[in-house]
Amino acid sequence: KQFSELGLSDEALQAVARLGYEAPTPVQEQAIPLALEGRDLIAAAKTGTGKTAAFSLPSLDRLDHAKGGQGPLMLVVTPTRELAQQIGEVCTTIAASTHHRILTVVGGLSYEPQIKKLKHGVDILIATPGRLVDLMEQKAVRLGDVEVLVLDEADRMLDMGFWPAMRKIIGATPDSRQTLLFSATIDSSIKNSVGRLLHDPAFVEI
Ligand code: AMP
Repeated sequence: KQFSELGLSDEALQAVARLGYEAPTPVQEQAIPLALEGRDLIAAAKTGTGKTAAFSLPSLDRLDHAKGGQGPLMLVVTPTRELAQQIGEVCTTIAASTHHRILTVVGGLSYEPQIKKLKHGVDILIATPGRLVDLMEQKAVRLGDVEVLVLDEADRMLDMGFWPAMRKIIGATPDSRQTLLFSATIDSSIKNSVGRLLHDPAFVEI
């Protein structure tokens, strides 16, 4: 299959060209049409499978451009600073021709610049769970406008003890959100914890 057969907008296809991708990877081929339909997803995909574009391309296509309030419309939660920065770069490339405001907030950096940028408003927020909960507790960010929630490397976040943080984050987003969950493995610990908070998820296993 070609990217042009997956239902993406012309803007998203231009972003694919900017990224230099010629054909979709298997996880992209399966996840993109389901995500564009608005389905919740549980996808088994390791790093290196192209999962970042698999969730970023359809999510950015579905955001309500008219909204643009203070809080993020798309929230990506990922376990490490390195992953957050990589995702931020891919989202910046994809959103290059739109006016989305993108921010990455991770632990280990000072709070003030992050809080200041959050105050100005952000459309796409990429965050590590601990820092995001800290910012929520400081009332520096609210998640009531989130339309798409991406949980990246969910198994790793659980292994790192982030389940309480994940629960708090998911609970702060509207129940009407779309949730896209990516995990290297999908076992009962995923299905019985975070998996229960999804709405009739489609499973993608490659
Ligand atoms: P990820 O699994 O998202 O970390 O992506 C792994 C690597 O594959 C990154 O360097 C991407 O730029 C690259 N990549 C993702 N999708 C494609 C594609 N369809 N064609 C070629 N390279 C890709």
